[in-house]
Amino acid sequence: MAMSARAKAAKAAVDVIGPYFSRMQVVATDPEALVFAFGNPHEMALPALPAAIRTHAEPRSVDWFAYKSSERSAQEVVAAALSGELQMDFAPDDIAMTQGAFGAISLALALFADAGDEVVIPVPGWFCYAPMLHAANLVPVGAELAPVTFDLDVDAIARAITPRTRIVVVNSPANPTGRVYPPSAWRALAAVLDEASRAHGRRIWLLSDEPYRRIRFDGIAFTSPAAFYPWTVIDYSYGKVLLAPGARLGYLALSPLIPAAERDELRGALFSLGLAIGWGFPDAVMQYSVPDLEHLSLDLDELTRKRDRMYGALAGAGYEVTRPEGTFYLWGKAPGGDAQAFCDALEERGVYVMPGSLFEQPHHFRISLTATMTMIDRAIPHLIEVAAERASNE
Ligand code: PLP
Repeated sequence: MAMSARAKAAKAAVDVIGPYFSRMQVVATDPEALVFAFGNPHEMALPALPAAIRTHAEPRSVDWFAYKSSERSAQEVVAAALSGELQMDFAPDDIAMTQGAFGAISLALALFADAGDEVVIPVPGWFCYAPMLHAANLVPVGAELAPVTFDLDVDAIARAITPRTRIVVVNSPANPTGRVYPPSAWRALAAVLDEASRAHGRRIWLLSDEPYRRIRFDGIAFTSPAAFYPWTVIDYSYGKVLLAPGARLGYLALSPLIPAAERDELRGALFSLGLAIGWGFPDAVMQYSVPDLEHLSLDLDELTRKRDRMYGALAGAGYEVTRPEGTFYLWGKAPGGDAQAFCDALEERGVYVMPGSLFEQPHHFRISLTATMTMIDRAIPHLIEVAAERASNE
């Protein structure tokens, strides 16, 4: 048929999620449905978000809505904030403004990988890596996280690397497991990437996917792998911390530790590649809003209370659940073992949680804690009852 091979491969990879996504969009319109599927908002947006958009939608000059690449004011705000957060010295020129983390990942793929190159991704990991790689004519290679704990398994990454590997993707705080990886994991990973780059005579780049960087519980520290491996780029999204994924804004940051000659070459390519991937820059109004949005956040205390409520109820009912250290997801093992049957049983009661098959884990499920506390309280009795039913069926 008419479609390119990469379109077919990307579509096949999205077919795992596509129908589920569409069905959940319909289900979410039912006010009685308890939908814990995607990380979508269930309450009105933080008032400062529409306020910033309204303010900056008003043109102040004739070029207000001209073509905009990375706006200098946005790059400056991001570089200063990121430098403070990671204790590294980012310059405005290291920052490419993008349409969320999606856009930043696309940009990184275009910067570093050629058709047929392999990219190592975590399993379980975000379900859009593989489709994006297929669409870019790249080959996803999964590296399993450690069983049970879902720690980063650096040996598994080492085994996944071949002479064709160009990029390794890591994600902390991690979707779907909620784990935040410690500096020791990054130190070990850096050694593996250095060794493999040397062995294969080609530099392997590290893409640190950090859209949940600021969403962490109990004061747990965050360390970026950029501090340990110089050949790192960081992608970020404002969509998570603002709980507004439809307002597309994010960035790709070049690590200041990238050797100067390579970093200069990359800096010089950020505009060209941002254009070449299809004008990947965010909307002008979103970029003007960066100074107002940079320090805005969802209510982390309230999210912690939701995490505690849901985790406490499930663990208390005998579920094997990973206590989230970050993100707004809770990852658990389906009682009875078959996550699809478990999710179906919940759906019959009007409760929608995501089956782990979307993450290549047919025995697990994911709950999004972006639901309201009322939804959580209403869903808990169902979760407890379905677990008891499924255990007695075993
Ligand atoms: N990376 C991970 C791990 C994600 O979970 C998501 C969104 O769910 C993204 C990247 C993309 O974020 P955005 O839609 O804000 O671009």
